[in-house]
Amino acid sequence: MAEASISSIRIFRQWQPFRDGTYRCSGGRSAEGFDSTIVEITSRDGIAGYGEMAPLGSFYDPSFAAGAREAMKELAPQLLGYDASGIEALNRRMDLLLKGHPYAKSAIDMALWDLAGKRSGLSVASMSGGAEGTRLPLYRSIAQQSPDAMAIRAQGYVAEGYRRLQVKVGLDVNEDIARLEAVRTAVPADTVLFCDANASWGTAETRRFLMATRLLDYTLEQPCASYEENLAIRRATDRPLVLDETIDGADVLLRAISDGLVDGITIKLARVGGLTKAKLLRDIAIAKNLKVTIEDTGGAQIGTAAYSNLLLSTPEGLRQHTVDFHNWVTVSNARGEFFIADGMMSLPAGRGLGLDADPSLFGDPIFASKSQ
Ligand SMILES: [Mg+2]
Repeated sequence: MAEASISSIRIFRQWQPFRDGTYRCSGGRSAEGFDSTIVEITSRDGIAGYGEMAPLGSFYDPSFAAGAREAMKELAPQLLGYDASGIEALNRRMDLLLKGHPYAKSAIDMALWDLAGKRSGLSVASMSGGAEGTRLPLYRSIAQQSPDAMAIRAQGYVAEGYRRLQVKVGLDVNEDIARLEAVRTAVPADTVLFCDANASWGTAETRRFLMATRLLDYTLEQPCASYEENLAIRRATDRPLVLDETIDGADVLLRAISDGLVDGITIKLARVGGLTKAKLLRDIAIAKNLKVTIEDTGGAQIGTAAYSNLLLSTPEGLRQHTVDFHNWVTVSNARGEFFIADGMMSLPAGRGLGLDADPSLFGDPIFASKSQ
């Protein structure tokens, strides 16, 4: 068997409690932490790569942690013996074996990238196009509270150096208008604001919000759930508009570009199926001069390193921002220095994800599959 062939796959579970307590978004949805699944893939020559996938509860995207683990258990034995460096071929194999369920494939794909980087001596940023610069702009999300409480929190983040804030809206429109006004007034004029409704409004609510906030500077993120609703809003406003939940694959992205629907997109690794498919969407966005955020639905150091490496190889002028999910949680799953200053994050340098993932941090495997 070749040196690069997959000889073992182990699956771990890590509960990652939120440092700031319960996370709330529109509609009363909430989570206490990330339920992360970590995958370790080892090649015949004894080198291991790691990936993780952590949904935001079971309510954010069509994915859930327990389902992902069952799907991974089914996939893992069917990948043994295959060339670990053939990442696209392995993605096609996973799609052949399991239709849909991209979130269940994301951690496996991520581990293959880490492994390929460790074997070749290249970082994931180098492998995905080449790092441009060394630092990435971060945003901080301001969860829904009273307008005054959100304004105070926004000022706190600005004092910590953040220059980009995401204001969570999507409840009662009048209250949401007050939320945005309070935050906009509380922070310096050059603080970049995104207003994220997480697909919770209809077109009527969105139109009322847009009219009432006409003179404020912000970018609107994912106001409505359906493609058609968002398109109707696009045609009715000159407000910069980015979509997140809607962007789940190349088909919808190409359609959105063709319709002139988006000024920017958010790519989440778990939603699209991992780094390989996220890179395809990222490359389409680059070709069409579209601004991109690359992040994930959750996780700790392993996940942050994966999406950050891909964003680092995206042209600086097209980067929106990303998030430091590993700082949201009280546990870690790998050693590696993410340095944050002035709202910018630099990544651990090194092969693959640049991390030293440590199974002793996440306990015994819940599943192991090994070639004979
Ligand atoms: Mg969003």
